[in-house]
Amino acid sequence: ISDTEQAVLDEIEENDVDFLRLQFTDILGTVKNVSVPARQAEKAFSEGIYFDGSSIEGFVRIQESDMRLVPDPETFAILPWRQKEDSAAGRMICDVYDTYTGDPFEGDPRRVLKNAIDRAEEMGYDVNAAPEPEFFLFEEDEDGYATTETGDHGGYFDVAPKDLASDVRRDIIYGLEEMDFEIEASHHEVARGQHEINFEYDDALSTADNVATFRTVVRAIAAQHDLHATFMPKPIPKINGSGMHTHLSLFTEDGENAFHDENDEFNLSDTAHSFLAGILEHAPAITAVADPTVNSYKRLVPGYEAPVYVAWSDRNRSALIRKPAARVPAASRIEARFPDPSCNPYLALAALIHAGLEGIEQDLECPDPVRENIYEFDEAKREEYGIETLPSNLGEAVDALEEDEVILDALGEHVGPKFIEAKSQEFEEYLVDVSQWEIDRYLETF
Ligand code: GLU
Ligand code: MG
Ligand code: MG
Repeated sequence: ISDTEQAVLDEIEENDVDFLRLQFTDILGTVKNVSVPARQAEKAFSEGIYFDGSSIEGFVRIQESDMRLVPDPETFAILPWRQKEDSAAGRMICDVYDTYTGDPFEGDPRRVLKNAIDRAEEMGYDVNAAPEPEFFLFEEDEDGYATTETGDHGGYFDVAPKDLASDVRRDIIYGLEEMDFEIEASHHEVARGQHEINFEYDDALSTADNVATFRTVVRAIAAQHDLHATFMPKPIPKINGSGMHTHLSLFTEDGENAFHDENDEFNLSDTAHSFLAGILEHAPAITAVADPTVNSYKRLVPGYEAPVYVAWSDRNRSALIRKPAARVPAASRIEARFPDPSCNPYLALAALIHAGLEGIEQDLECPDPVRENIYEFDEAKREEYGIETLPSNLGEAVDALEEDEVILDALGEHVGPKFIEAKSQEFEEYLVDVSQWEIDRYLETF
């Protein structure tokens, strides 16, 4: 048993932890957990905990369903909303192993991200990432079901009393801090009922773990206030949707920011430019992973600060990738603005990282930034600038993914096909559905 593992056992003892939630995610990014009595922690570290993987989306077939969870002791945290006088619940994020081969299970999204991180490491880089998840807080009806009512009329950076949800946001932040998040800022977003909480950047794996945890904490604490927190990308038409901008940079082994070059006009190194070019090149396929729901594409429309066109910029927010202003060299980074918070953070980061690394390996030429508002370009102007459009629905995005070897490789042989199968099915279900819009528009007309 390692020192970190021993430290977890001590904490379990000290804090009267009775139950441990062993957490992992399925390929759709849904957090799953198995709860075990805390006294099994030592066994969980040494042998893992067995579970039936056949009921987990995209995992395995019935006849080969036994999986093993091995907790990562670095991820131990006590769940603040389950804490009582003399009992508490803890959680750890797990890696999934194949029971038969004993190897890491390639269908585990965390494994998929680790593969991307390994590739970066082989090239001499550590990947840093920071997400900006946005979400809505909605009221519940009398029966406890989520509505799309906000009872909040605040706007961007508004303060109380308009920002009615600020108490809730404060409690969410306390909860996150208790789970060791470094909160950088939080604010009311542009739309009514919409919020953003930013936490400090970290290595890519910790960041993906943090996103998974973040969504759980936000929902749990909102629920304590009888509110429903949603990470659905576009819950209300004609106002801003929720994005999850993802900041990325590569550091060399001796801690230098490989993205920084003070002699460059944008303070971005050649490495950063090629990385950026790689993401632009593979953007349509990455979109399937980073914006993985039917609803995601209702957000990616002109006019709501979400990207629609494949271009980058050092200033405007209509671009797919932005170069944020950086005060110090270590902060030189790029901001991918297309991911949304409904994505599986492990897979989305893996896709972005592989695309960027591919750009570096291929020494891709980065196009010039576009400084004008691309929303206002017509087709002719976009053509003149060579600006492509993102897929306009999930079906198109999945088609792009099917054609993109780099992103398929990023997902791996297990997750790639399973992901495509699940998403094609989701899109087909949507296509045959009859929406309220159609009823409103046609029922009485025809
Ligand atoms: N909510 C916007 C989006 O859908 C982003 C707003 C912002 O720039 O923070 O991406
Ligand atoms: Mg924002
Ligand atoms: Mg941002």
